[in-house]
Amino acid sequence: MKLWRENNKDKIAAYDCAHKEEKAIRNKAWAAANPEKVKAKAKKYRDSHKEKTSERRKAFYIAHCGEQKLYSREYNKKNSKKIAIRMKRWRDENKEKIAAYMKDYRKANLEKFLQYIHERRSRKLKVIIEKFSSREIFERDGWICQLCRKKINEGLKYPDPLCATLDHIIPLSKDGTHSRVNVQLAHLICNMRKSSSLPEESAMQIKQYVMQSSLQTTNRGRTAPPAEPASSEPEEFPVV
Ligand SMILES: [Zn+2]
Repeated sequence: MKLWRENNKDKIAAYDCAHKEEKAIRNKAWAAANPEKVKAKAKKYRDSHKEKTSERRKAFYIAHCGEQKLYSREYNKKNSKKIAIRMKRWRDENKEKIAAYMKDYRKANLEKFLQYIHERRSRKLKVIIEKFSSREIFERDGWICQLCRKKINEGLKYPDPLCATLDHIIPLSKDGTHSRVNVQLAHLICNMRKSSSLPEESAMQIKQYVMQSSLQTTNRGRTAPPAEPASSEPEEFPVV
């Protein structure tokens, strides 16, 4: 049969051309009776013509952009539960992929991410939130640590102990607000010591540490790690 088809291509084409409508009806009826076969055939085609399919999809999307958006919005509204389940399943199956992506994202958008962390924590604690960026506060405080009064190097990035962080003067956990008046610039190490120590004890430790660090910085031309590592390394950016 296959061989006969190969040898009679012209004949078949002429027949198909003369019986176009009949063939279309027959095909439609066959497709309606064999939905699984149609699906499998379409999938096979897509898999073997990936580039072509994606090009065609792209072109279709560009030509029908507005309609597509409208359709998607309607679809999402109607199927929100279904989508949520699907997304949760995808997240559960791709935990490592998501973690790697988030790591890269945090690195590339550190400031945005910090802002998000502050706001999320404030929301969790149900405190008043004001919209502002960390950089705005850093500039306002003239890049001077408000806890030890030493200059902060703008170029240092988290988790360098001497990098810039946002410190809540009255901690969020003690009903402080996430607002401009309740935040100040502080070294990461000062911020951590403040949150984990008693006030006087903390002041002494900070003084000692910063003196030691500035000595090491001058000697080596770069920042050295803390002489005595902080007992509780933060998993997230520290917010006090
Ligand atoms: Zn400091």
